[in-house]
Amino acid sequence: LLQFRSGRTYEQVYEDALSQCVQNPTLTAVQKGLLDRYCEELLEWNATRCNLTAVRTRDGVYIKFIADSLTLVPVLDSLARSIIEQTGDKQGRPLDVLDLGTGGGAPGLILAIARPQYAMTLVDSVAKKIAFCQHFADTNRASLGNVRTLVNRAEALGRSAEHREVHDCVVCRAVGELRSLVELAAPLLRVGGWLIAQKALSRDHREIKEASNALKLLGCEVHAVHEVTSIDGDSAIDDERYRAIVVVRKAQRTDLLYPRIDGTPAKSPL
Ligand code: SAM
Repeated sequence: LLQFRSGRTYEQVYEDALSQCVQNPTLTAVQKGLLDRYCEELLEWNATRCNLTAVRTRDGVYIKFIADSLTLVPVLDSLARSIIEQTGDKQGRPLDVLDLGTGGGAPGLILAIARPQYAMTLVDSVAKKIAFCQHFADTNRASLGNVRTLVNRAEALGRSAEHREVHDCVVCRAVGELRSLVELAAPLLRVGGWLIAQKALSRDHREIKEASNALKLLGCEVHAVHEVTSIDGDSAIDDERYRAIVVVRKAQRTDLLYPRIDGTPAKSPL
């Protein structure tokens, strides 16, 4: 097995990532193989075709992308269970998850590998990033029939009849401040749906407090904050490894005023 600089094997990194998950989901050998292939392809495209990410090493992809994305699995699983409890429909349609600003596929492509039973829509405004995600899904279609990709801005999708107020979940990693994410995500979510934002928050959760106006205007509420200690880096400083998964629930329909025109949610947050 290949070793990390820190001495951990890839197997141990998987285990670290999985043990962070409350429900301890397990991955099959086929799924682990797909994650390996994802790592190889991402690095190859990054080196030879286009700049997808600043992460340029195998251990970087495993720790920063794969392990980090897998921490969302138990959160999605628990939301999927709560839908079954509410509707009583065990054979119902798959959980419909949209990854807003997927970049090189984190977390969307990684979640699609880990949870083939969920329908994943990967969205990014940058065509070359989506070209990579589409290529990976196409070349592994037997396992990734649950993936579709879209080159578009979240603002445009939020105004479209096809995507407005239809999705169960929006997941989001490293795209912006919570108050702007709420404006981008709420129009895409059905009433009762969830925004799941992976954040490197300060421990005082200032970013959540700053989002209070946006949450109110968009009819949303913070449902849960799951604290995660990242396995990223050699830092022994706990605060540097502190992460949060913020789960926001959409309680009311979204006013047609939102989202505002392209770029405004990020430039001039509510
Ligand atoms: N989620 C990935 C990750 O964690 O590696 C990518 C993060 S990258 C810093 C932010 C991505 O969000 C970029 O690829 C950017 O093009 C995309 N993005 C930012 N604002 C967006 C918007 N309004 N609509 C669609 N994509 C957006």
